[in-house]
Amino acid sequence: MSSSDQKCYFCGEIAQIQNQGAHFVRCNYCGDYVVSWPCEGIIEQIKPSDRLKISCVLMERKIAHKGGALDQLFFTSSKHESPPSGRILVTPDEILSRFPRSAIEIFDRALLNLSEEIDHPATSITFGPKDGAMVFAPDNLASMLVQLQNVGYLVGIEGRSGYFVTGKGWERIAELRKPGRDSNHAFVAMWFDDSRTNSIRPTGDLLVGGAETL
Ligand SMILES: [Zn+2]
Repeated sequence: MSSSDQKCYFCGEIAQIQNQGAHFVRCNYCGDYVVSWPCEGIIEQIKPSDRLKISCVLMERKIAHKGGALDQLFFTSSKHESPPSGRILVTPDEILSRFPRSAIEIFDRALLNLSEEIDHPATSITFGPKDGAMVFAPDNLASMLVQLQNVGYLVGIEGRSGYFVTGKGWERIAELRKPGRDSNHAFVAMWFDDSRTNSIRPTGDLLVGGAETL
Protein backbone atom coordinates (compact mmCIF):
# COMPACT_ATOMS: atom_id res chain seq x y z
CA MET A 1 0.00 0.00 0.00
CA SER A 2 1.26 3.42 -0.77
CA SER A 3 -0.03 6.61 0.75
CA SER A 4 1.14 10.02 -0.23
CA ASP A 5 0.10 13.62 -0.57
CA GLN A 6 -1.16 14.17 -4.08
CA LYS A 7 -3.72 16.43 -5.64
CA CYS A 8 -7.45 15.89 -5.20
CA TYR A 9 -8.97 14.79 -8.51
CA PHE A 10 -11.63 17.50 -8.37
CA CYS A 11 -10.58 20.60 -6.42
CA GLY A 12 -6.87 20.20 -7.17
CA GLU A 13 -5.80 20.87 -3.57
CA ILE A 14 -3.32 18.65 -1.77
CA ALA A 15 -5.08 15.49 -0.63
CA GLN A 16 -4.02 12.22 0.92
CA ILE A 17 -4.40 9.38 -1.54
CA GLN A 18 -3.98 5.66 -0.88
CA ASN A 19 -3.65 3.44 -3.89
CA GLN A 20 -4.82 -0.04 -3.05
CA GLY A 21 -7.06 -1.63 -5.66
CA ALA A 22 -8.49 1.84 -6.24
CA HIS A 23 -7.59 5.41 -5.28
CA PHE A 24 -8.80 6.26 -1.76
CA VAL A 25 -8.83 10.03 -1.47
CA ARG A 26 -9.07 12.14 1.67
CA CYS A 27 -9.52 15.81 0.75
CA ASN A 28 -10.11 18.60 3.25
CA TYR A 29 -12.58 20.22 0.88
CA CYS A 30 -14.31 17.37 -0.97
CA GLY A 31 -14.24 14.81 1.84
CA ASP A 32 -13.39 11.14 1.45
CA TYR A 33 -14.12 9.39 -1.83
CA VAL A 34 -12.80 6.55 -3.96
CA VAL A 35 -11.85 6.55 -7.64
CA SER A 36 -11.66 3.24 -9.51
CA TRP A 37 -8.66 2.65 -11.76
CA PRO A 38 -10.72 2.89 -14.99
CA CYS A 39 -12.42 6.05 -13.77
CA GLU A 40 -9.15 7.88 -13.21
CA GLY A 41 -8.63 8.26 -16.95
CA ILE A 42 -12.18 9.51 -17.40
CA ILE A 43 -11.75 12.19 -14.76
CA GLU A 44 -8.56 13.36 -16.44
CA GLN A 45 -10.60 14.00 -19.60
CA ILE A 46 -13.08 16.24 -17.79
CA LYS A 47 -12.42 19.92 -18.34
CA PRO A 48 -11.00 21.72 -15.28
CA SER A 49 -14.03 23.97 -14.78
CA ASP A 50 -16.30 20.91 -14.63
CA ARG A 51 -13.99 19.17 -12.18
CA LEU A 52 -14.33 22.23 -9.93
CA LYS A 53 -18.12 22.01 -10.24
CA ILE A 54 -17.92 18.42 -9.03
CA SER A 55 -15.85 19.60 -6.07
CA CYS A 56 -18.66 22.04 -5.17
CA VAL A 57 -21.21 19.23 -5.10
CA LEU A 58 -18.88 17.07 -3.01
CA MET A 59 -18.34 19.90 -0.55
CA GLU A 60 -22.10 20.46 -0.29
CA ARG A 61 -22.55 16.78 0.50
CA LYS A 62 -19.83 16.94 3.13
CA ILE A 63 -21.40 20.02 4.74
CA ALA A 64 -24.89 18.47 4.73
CA HIS A 65 -23.54 15.44 6.57
CA LYS A 66 -21.83 17.48 9.25
CA GLY A 67 -21.28 15.25 12.26
CA GLY A 68 -23.05 12.27 10.71
CA ALA A 69 -21.94 9.05 9.12
CA LEU A 70 -21.10 9.52 5.47
CA ASP A 71 -21.00 6.64 3.04
CA GLN A 72 -18.17 7.16 0.61
CA LEU A 73 -18.82 7.84 -3.02
CA PHE A 74 -17.10 5.37 -5.31
CA PHE A 75 -16.40 7.00 -8.67
CA THR A 76 -16.67 4.48 -11.46
CA SER A 77 -16.50 4.47 -15.22
CA SER A 78 -19.34 2.01 -15.45
CA LYS A 79 -22.30 1.24 -13.24
CA HIS A 80 -21.45 -2.45 -13.75
CA GLU A 81 -18.53 -2.28 -11.37
CA SER A 82 -19.45 -3.54 -7.92
CA PRO A 83 -18.41 -1.26 -5.06
CA PRO A 84 -17.42 -2.53 -1.63
CA SER A 85 -20.32 -2.39 0.80
CA GLY A 86 -21.05 0.97 2.35
CA ARG A 87 -20.03 2.83 -0.78
CA ILE A 88 -22.24 4.55 -3.31
CA LEU A 89 -21.45 3.89 -6.95
CA VAL A 90 -21.49 7.09 -9.04
CA THR A 91 -20.09 8.35 -12.32
CA PRO A 92 -18.41 11.76 -12.51
CA ASP A 93 -21.18 12.89 -14.90
CA GLU A 94 -23.86 12.09 -12.34
CA ILE A 95 -22.23 14.28 -9.75
CA LEU A 96 -21.56 17.03 -12.30
CA SER A 97 -25.27 17.01 -13.20
CA ARG A 98 -26.06 17.91 -9.60
CA PHE A 99 -24.36 21.30 -9.88
CA PRO A 100 -27.03 24.03 -9.61
CA ARG A 101 -28.65 24.81 -12.96
CA SER A 102 -29.73 28.41 -12.38
CA ALA A 103 -28.56 31.52 -10.58
CA ILE A 104 -31.44 31.21 -8.12
CA GLU A 105 -30.46 27.64 -7.33
CA ILE A 106 -26.85 28.71 -6.79
CA PHE A 107 -27.98 31.41 -4.33
CA ASP A 108 -30.28 29.00 -2.50
CA ARG A 109 -27.81 26.17 -2.18
CA ALA A 110 -24.97 28.54 -1.22
CA LEU A 111 -27.23 29.91 1.50
CA LEU A 112 -28.02 26.42 2.78
CA ASN A 113 -24.31 25.61 2.93
CA LEU A 114 -23.67 28.78 4.92
CA SER A 115 -26.55 28.01 7.28
CA GLU A 116 -24.92 24.69 8.12
CA GLU A 117 -21.75 26.51 9.14
CA ILE A 118 -23.46 29.09 11.38
CA ASP A 119 -26.13 28.16 13.87
CA HIS A 120 -27.18 31.55 15.23
CA PRO A 121 -28.12 34.88 13.61
CA ALA A 122 -25.51 36.67 15.73
CA THR A 123 -22.74 34.39 14.48
CA SER A 124 -20.67 35.77 11.64
CA ILE A 125 -18.86 33.84 8.98
CA THR A 126 -15.52 34.54 7.37
CA PHE A 127 -14.20 33.07 4.16
CA GLY A 128 -10.76 31.81 3.30
CA PRO A 129 -9.42 32.06 -0.24
CA LYS A 130 -10.32 28.42 -0.91
CA ASP A 131 -13.92 28.60 0.32
CA GLY A 132 -15.42 29.44 -3.07
CA ALA A 133 -16.79 25.92 -3.51
CA MET A 134 -18.99 26.47 -0.48
CA VAL A 135 -20.90 29.14 -2.41
CA PHE A 136 -20.67 27.34 -5.79
CA ALA A 137 -18.09 29.77 -7.14
CA PRO A 138 -14.85 27.82 -6.77
CA ASP A 139 -12.76 30.29 -8.72
CA ASN A 140 -14.69 33.47 -8.03
CA LEU A 141 -15.40 33.74 -4.32
CA ALA A 142 -15.09 37.55 -4.12
CA SER A 143 -17.66 38.19 -6.85
CA MET A 144 -20.04 35.63 -5.40
CA LEU A 145 -19.88 37.37 -2.01
CA VAL A 146 -20.77 40.64 -3.72
CA GLN A 147 -23.74 38.95 -5.39
CA LEU A 148 -24.93 37.30 -2.18
CA GLN A 149 -24.99 40.79 -0.70
CA ASN A 150 -26.76 42.19 -3.78
CA VAL A 151 -29.60 39.69 -3.42
CA GLY A 152 -29.83 40.57 0.27
CA TYR A 153 -28.75 37.27 1.79
CA LEU A 154 -25.44 38.43 3.30
CA VAL A 155 -24.24 41.69 4.78
CA GLY A 156 -20.61 42.59 5.41
CA ILE A 157 -19.77 43.59 8.98
CA GLU A 158 -18.41 47.10 9.14
CA GLY A 159 -14.81 47.26 10.22
CA ARG A 160 -14.44 43.51 10.32
CA SER A 161 -13.81 40.87 7.72
CA GLY A 162 -16.87 38.71 8.40
CA TYR A 163 -20.44 38.52 7.11
CA PHE A 164 -23.84 38.02 8.70
CA VAL A 165 -26.73 36.19 7.09
CA THR A 166 -29.51 38.82 6.89
CA GLY A 167 -33.06 38.45 8.14
CA LYS A 168 -34.10 37.90 4.53
CA GLY A 169 -31.46 35.19 4.26
CA TRP A 170 -32.71 33.39 7.37
CA GLU A 171 -36.29 33.62 6.06
CA ARG A 172 -35.21 31.99 2.81
CA ILE A 173 -33.34 29.28 4.73
CA ALA A 174 -36.51 28.51 6.69
CA GLU A 175 -38.49 28.27 3.44
CA LEU A 176 -35.92 25.96 1.88
CA ARG A 177 -35.90 23.71 4.91
CA LYS A 178 -39.65 23.06 4.74
CA PRO A 179 -40.02 19.51 3.44
CA GLY A 180 -41.54 19.31 -0.01
CA ARG A 181 -41.68 23.09 -0.35
CA ASP A 182 -38.65 23.53 -2.52
CA SER A 183 -36.66 21.06 -4.54
CA ASN A 184 -33.38 22.77 -3.72
CA HIS A 185 -33.50 21.66 -0.17
CA ALA A 186 -34.73 18.24 -1.22
CA PHE A 187 -31.46 18.03 -3.09
CA VAL A 188 -29.63 18.05 0.20
CA ALA A 189 -32.06 15.56 1.73
CA MET A 190 -31.32 13.27 -1.18
CA TRP A 191 -27.87 12.56 0.16
CA PHE A 192 -29.41 11.05 3.24
CA ASP A 193 -31.57 8.81 1.08
CA ASP A 194 -28.46 7.71 -0.76
CA SER A 195 -26.85 6.47 2.39
CA ARG A 196 -29.85 4.29 3.07
CA THR A 197 -30.44 2.89 -0.37
CA ASN A 198 -26.94 2.82 -1.85
CA SER A 199 -28.26 4.34 -5.03
CA ILE A 200 -28.81 7.76 -6.44
CA ARG A 201 -32.40 8.50 -7.27
CA PRO A 202 -33.61 10.32 -10.32
CA THR A 203 -34.45 13.97 -9.83
CA GLY A 204 -38.19 13.31 -9.85
CA ASP A 205 -38.01 11.59 -6.46
CA LEU A 206 -36.24 14.40 -4.71
CA LEU A 207 -39.32 16.09 -3.31
CA VAL A 208 -39.93 13.21 -0.93
CA GLY A 209 -39.39 14.27 2.72
CA GLY A 210 -36.22 13.96 4.67
CA ALA A 211 -35.58 17.66 5.01
CA GLU A 212 -36.05 17.68 8.74
CA THR A 213 -33.16 15.31 9.20
CA LEU A 214 -30.95 18.38 9.04
ZN1 LIG B 1 -10.90 18.11 -3.18
